Amino acid sequence: MTAPAAPAVELVDLRVSLGGARILAGIDLAVAAGEWVTVIGPNGAGKSTLLRAVGGLLPATGTVNLFGTPSAALSRRERARVVATVAQSPVVPPGMAVFDYVLLGRTPYLRPLGRESAADLAVVAGVLDRLDLARFGSRPLETLSGGERQRVFLARALAQGATLLMLDEPTSALDIGHQQEVLEVVDQLRRDSGLTVLATMHDLSIAGEYADRLVLLDAGRVAAAGTPREVLTEELLATHYRARVRVVDGEHGPIVVPVRAARDAARQPKPGAVR
Ligand code: ADP
Ligand code: MG
Repeated sequence: MTAPAAPAVELVDLRVSLGGARILAGIDLAVAAGEWVTVIGPNGAGKSTLLRAVGGLLPATGTVNLFGTPSAALSRRERARVVATVAQSPVVPPGMAVFDYVLLGRTPYLRPLGRESAADLAVVAGVLDRLDLARFGSRPLETLSGGERQRVFLARALAQGATLLMLDEPTSALDIGHQQEVLEVVDQLRRDSGLTVLATMHDLSIAGEYADRLVLLDAGRVAAAGTPREVLTEELLATHYRARVRVVDGEHGPIVVPVRAARDAARQPKPGAVR
């Protein structure tokens, strides 16, 4: 018998405080290698903070292990080969062409002061092609539409060739066609190359369709975790989002439909009544 592989991400009692406020209050979470886990939760729950802490971008206490190695023991360069992150609103360097921006993803592989190799350029070309971005290669990034830009951010992360991909609301700026296209590309990469995905998402139906497991975060704590069917319940969503929803069975998991509150019948004018 071989020992089970170390999880891609293992968090034990992860705590983060920012500006004197406790943002994450003791998170325990394991993401298996090859798994897709999506963190959901209301605005301000701590989803982005969780991803940033896993990426080593924030001071945190507790354990963050990446593929069995304490994250703190990795140099920036080593960590960048293991985990690639698409932030919620990445900085757009002014004047930089799309191709050059995506090429930044290859930085962890360049020798100090070294230039990118033909192999690096080929990786970038391949990723641009895969995300339907090849025609934008020489365009300044800031001239692209929000959705086009979001695909470029993903392209940079994919060019990084890391085994763990963290996506903070990767599809918020995309139309539904491009949402599906981007998530299918990520899912295909997961199948082809065993990528692990840790994402955050606002659209609950889409979150459930693509993730193996959902983690519902509320006020810096894990309120629920499990399969989409276990987490996307009318009760949990009412409690933690204060939302009125119906959950119906879809082909690939639950579909969450927001439902407007019933109007107060007493306040409705009677037909024909004059006020
Ligand atoms: P989410 O991504 O779930 O919407 P965030 O992780 O971005 O939430 O933020 C969680 C909470 O942490 C929010 O209340 C936010 O205002 C707070 N927060 C984030 N960054 C800081 C900071 N640098 N200083 C103080 N509070 C912060
Ligand atoms: Mg966020």
